[in-house]
Amino acid sequence: AKWVYNFGAGGADGHADMKNLLGGKGANLAEMAAIGLPVPPGFTLTTEVCTQFFQKKRTYPAQLKDQVAQALLLVEERTGQKFGDVTNPLLVSVRSGARASMPGMMDTVLNLGLNDQTVEALAKRSGDRRFAYDSYRRFVQMYSDVVLGIDLSHFEKLLDRAKQRRKVKQDFELPAQDLEKLVQDYKACVQVELGEDFPEDPQQQLWGAIGAVFNSWMNQRAKTYRRLHDIPESWGTAVNVQAMVFGNMGEDCATGVAFTRNPSDGTNDFYGEFLVNAQGEDVVAGIRTPQELTIKARKIHGSDMLSLEEVMPGIYRELCAVRQQLESHYKDMQDIEFTIQQNKLYMLQTRTGKRTSHAALRIAVDMANEGLISKSKALLRLKPELIDQLLHPTLDPKAPKQVIARGLPASPGAAGGKVVFTADEAVRRSRDGERVLLVRVETSPEDIHGLHAAEGVLTTRGGMTSHAAVVARGMGRPCVAGAGEVQVDYAAGKFTVGDVTVQEGQILTIDGGTGEVICGEVPTVPPKLSGAFGTIMAWADEHRTLQVRANAETPNDARQAKEFGAQGIGLVRTEHMFFDGSRIVAMRQMILATDEADRKKALDQLLTMQRKDITELFRIMDGRPVTVRLLDPPLHEFLPHTEEEMASVAKAAGVPLNRVRRRVSDLQEANPMLGHRGCRLAITYPEVCEMQARAIFEAAAIVGRERGNQPVAEVMVPLVATTQELSILKGVVEKTAAAVQKEQGVNLGYHVGTMIELPRACLQAGRLAGQAEFFSFGTNDLTQTTYGLSRDDAGAFLPEYKAKGIVEQDPFVSLDQEGVGELIKIAVQRGRAAREGIKMGICGEHGGDPASIEFCHKVGLDYVSCSPFRVPIARLAAAQAAL
Ligand code: PEP
Ligand code: MG
Repeated sequence: AKWVYNFGAGGADGHADMKNLLGGKGANLAEMAAIGLPVPPGFTLTTEVCTQFFQKKRTYPAQLKDQVAQALLLVEERTGQKFGDVTNPLLVSVRSGARASMPGMMDTVLNLGLNDQTVEALAKRSGDRRFAYDSYRRFVQMYSDVVLGIDLSHFEKLLDRAKQRRKVKQDFELPAQDLEKLVQDYKACVQVELGEDFPEDPQQQLWGAIGAVFNSWMNQRAKTYRRLHDIPESWGTAVNVQAMVFGNMGEDCATGVAFTRNPSDGTNDFYGEFLVNAQGEDVVAGIRTPQELTIKARKIHGSDMLSLEEVMPGIYRELCAVRQQLESHYKDMQDIEFTIQQNKLYMLQTRTGKRTSHAALRIAVDMANEGLISKSKALLRLKPELIDQLLHPTLDPKAPKQVIARGLPASPGAAGGKVVFTADEAVRRSRDGERVLLVRVETSPEDIHGLHAAEGVLTTRGGMTSHAAVVARGMGRPCVAGAGEVQVDYAAGKFTVGDVTVQEGQILTIDGGTGEVICGEVPTVPPKLSGAFGTIMAWADEHRTLQVRANAETPNDARQAKEFGAQGIGLVRTEHMFFDGSRIVAMRQMILATDEADRKKALDQLLTMQRKDITELFRIMDGRPVTVRLLDPPLHEFLPHTEEEMASVAKAAGVPLNRVRRRVSDLQEANPMLGHRGCRLAITYPEVCEMQARAIFEAAAIVGRERGNQPVAEVMVPLVATTQELSILKGVVEKTAAAVQKEQGVNLGYHVGTMIELPRACLQAGRLAGQAEFFSFGTNDLTQTTYGLSRDDAGAFLPEYKAKGIVEQDPFVSLDQEGVGELIKIAVQRGRAAREGIKMGICGEHGGDPASIEFCHKVGLDYVSCSPFRVPIARLAAAQAAL
């Protein structure tokens, strides 16, 4: 078997499509080498080696040693250097590279191959002793940490002592002889800690590093990251061994990272950062604040450090050509790493760049307009979920705010919350339901759980590509990075800016779009839905066949839904119109009434409210269909609970408190979700159905008179199990319609349909379609009743079901296609057979879930209806389903 793949000097064994085998990094290094980009030669040990390694008690396949030796020979040939040679030694880096990028989660060793002999050769060839010993020092430290497992603090102590002795503050102020001494001290420390010498043999070093990288696949950080990002453990990581190039060999050397377009807002600007005379990890680690690539970016950020365009114009031009070539080759925005060694450019990595949702939209639209990709490709490339982030509010530009500091706008959006200084505290507080803002000098991979728990992140050090910035963008969290004026004092649990002090727990707001750090809470405004968003939505509408409606009962929700492009209201939950203040008293009066006269009194009040509400909805929806569902109150949600509540119902109804009390206890149900709700209520109290039908038809008549054309009302009956239920209530609705038409002298168009939300209804769909003019699948109840799983209680154990792999997804979030979906298919087929062209939609929560929407498209529903904020997501998901 082939376990090792070579790349370099204009050729490679692998290519970009081999990510499963070579990992993302390895596959793209191969691809870059193959298309002629300057990639230092190297080779990749495949992910299959990793899988075997863990299956076979951490041992390697038999042929691996030979294949690595062969590959190393080829690298030697390509570089003209020799591994372990005392005159011209080859040095290598050993890095992980999984299928999906897991930034900073696994281990890396640089400068491998150095020992007491080869370091002298490096000194001689580079003409810089200090550089050689600094590389050696870093290597011993990194290797001891990563491979030998010795705590870094030992080395930090020794380094501090060396600086004290020399009376200097910075590492780079230490001269060569001090570093030389330091290496010996490090090694002595290894001897004490380990009882063994630091390995001088480059071969031993190489295999030590390879093993460490494979082992790091199972470290705690990597496991957490995989869990958060749904990356299977079985994938394994590849290991890339590559000839070292040095960005820290002098002033004509540099190292940097860049995005081929701006990852924050998506503009077509080359965007990146670099450090002169620095080694790879220094940029991402956020230890020195890096310089910009372009003059333009430098000016925007008001930086006084020169850009690469100014410092090394030739290399900058070459890098721009690489940018062009990569984008037209990969047809997507790339995130690249490069190193400049003695005025020569080397490419170390390329991968699809992480971006904010704003940037994702803009880039997709721009690339389609530039002809780089098709419109359908642009649509398919966008995850519907990312739309969610765009619909969230930003800071109200008119609101007063006390800006106390400014940093880089690293990930857009506004976030406010209580200040915390550690990831653990962020998790603790957010578990208690608090909104927190994580404030750190810088973040590292150890902080990801905190970044996840926080509303947003503020760092005081590091640039746009620092760990915090990259991770926050990936998670869609607002981030302000590198706010240098902010002085964090972890020990005292506070930070200061000038004379402002902010303690842990105080409220802070950040604006990741502008970089502002603001004291206190700032009001927000709804987002603007124009530009790229509008374009993508328009393209989505061209492609989708599913209609998208919204579930809405308040005027605000209806307006919001219309603004987001809803083509109608698919579900008005009328019981939700009676939740607030005075209304709930009338509702309770109605429910608790013991005779028809009492009930009628309450119903009269409800009629007035109901008519007004529905009139308003008809007006807002302006001719678009509105499906009004008859009351479906799970009784327990409406019964008065406290003495006070009972007293106010008694007073309003003019009945003794005791009677109310008794009635409440009579109405208590053991399983209210399976109780006297939905159409069962209207069957036992037809006057409730009549009142609602009257409200709907009178509202239609009012709006019809105002507008000159009648809105078409759709009346929907909930929780139907039998055809008789539906036909009885349909009769009540029709009788009421006839009465209203006569009273008002109008002709009303209307439809009566049913929810399909019980398994029996699915099976009886053929008969029901004889009565119903439309079906709307209530997949919340259908999931509950198919699974026999309470909607209200399942949260207690579903997470464990998920963790154990019993269910892949919460079935209340993403439709259970095998079970519930099967019943839907039966209902669709039987319903259509009985009534040709019967309109069918879905109005459960699943109507806003992309995977469920795809299912709805496949089974041939006519529309999905979801909460207003999910309407744009549904439009995109519906288009993707159709492509
Ligand atoms: C449903 O059951 O899916 C539905 C839409 O109705 P409700 O959530 O109001 O029970
Ligand atoms: Mg329901």
